Amino acid sequence: MENKEEILKNLKEKLDSVTNLNSLNDVKTEFLGKKGSITALSSIIGSLPVEEKKTFGAELNKLKAEATSLLESKREEIETKILNEKLANEKIDISLPSTKLPVGAPNILEHLIEEVEEVFMSMGYDVVDGPEIEEDKYNFELLNIPKGHPARDAQDTFYIEDETILLRSQTSPVQVRTMLSTDGNTPVRMICPGKTYRRDADDATHSHQFMQIEGLLVDKNISLSDLKGTFDVIAKKLFGEDCRTRFRPSYYQFTEPSVETDISCFKCHGEGCSLCKNTGWITVSGAGMVHPNVLRNCGYDPNVWSGFAFGFGAERLAMLKYGINDIRTFYQTDLRESATFDRKEA
Ligand SMILES: [Zn+2]
Repeated sequence: MENKEEILKNLKEKLDSVTNLNSLNDVKTEFLGKKGSITALSSIIGSLPVEEKKTFGAELNKLKAEATSLLESKREEIETKILNEKLANEKIDISLPSTKLPVGAPNILEHLIEEVEEVFMSMGYDVVDGPEIEEDKYNFELLNIPKGHPARDAQDTFYIEDETILLRSQTSPVQVRTMLSTDGNTPVRMICPGKTYRRDADDATHSHQFMQIEGLLVDKNISLSDLKGTFDVIAKKLFGEDCRTRFRPSYYQFTEPSVETDISCFKCHGEGCSLCKNTGWITVSGAGMVHPNVLRNCGYDPNVWSGFAFGFGAERLAMLKYGINDIRTFYQTDLRESATFDRKEA
């Protein structure tokens, strides 16, 4: 086949000027199509002498294969070129600065409550929730504060209906509800953090809304020393291992005896400073042994069962822990306070 090289040379020249798939198809038809120049060679076979047919056939197949391979590599070249152009056009510019989204910090009170919850849960306490709109019965009466009792003056709150429905002035009604929900023959170990309300004029240390973290333990043979031990663990967890605790006599209607609980000043370690008003001690909660009347009101026999209850002010703990000097800060959504918290945590 004399013109084999000629045909291939011709094909190569045509392919050199091909730049897209359409013209590549045209070239393919020109050589390998029904009327293509290579296809046309097949018709010669019939007129050849038998001894040449075989050689010619083999040569022709070789030519077809070479032409196909040339066309295919051109196709690949064009397709790669198209893909590269597409990629270049659709490239994402990763050097463009992104929009910075500000990251929030946890609310200080929520954070503190979670911390306290974790300590109590590690000692087997349940965390219990209760209604903020409460009945007088649960907020006062069952807690040994009957109607007209002067102790109510210190806990005056917002009434919703006829002095029977009110915003709870303490989270103690959750303790009452928890005790009443048992059969009166089951130990109780719970804390109930939550919002409380009082008709106080707002100032640096008072707020008409604040949060309490109250707790209750009812079991057999519970004494004041159990309360002391529990309080000691909490104080050390929250304020450091060198924190010391003390009880001072106090009075609450729902506990007898009642105590105020102090921790040694974590700032001056007892030497005296402005935080502890030079006493070396800071009051952090009220507590005591559950009053027999309360146990009885809630279905527990005070001759068999005893227990202790305690209450922390969440804001007060947070103010001490994070050096915040105005309780109103917690309710004014001042973002700088979160920033302060962030720094102190770091
Ligand atoms: Zn001090």
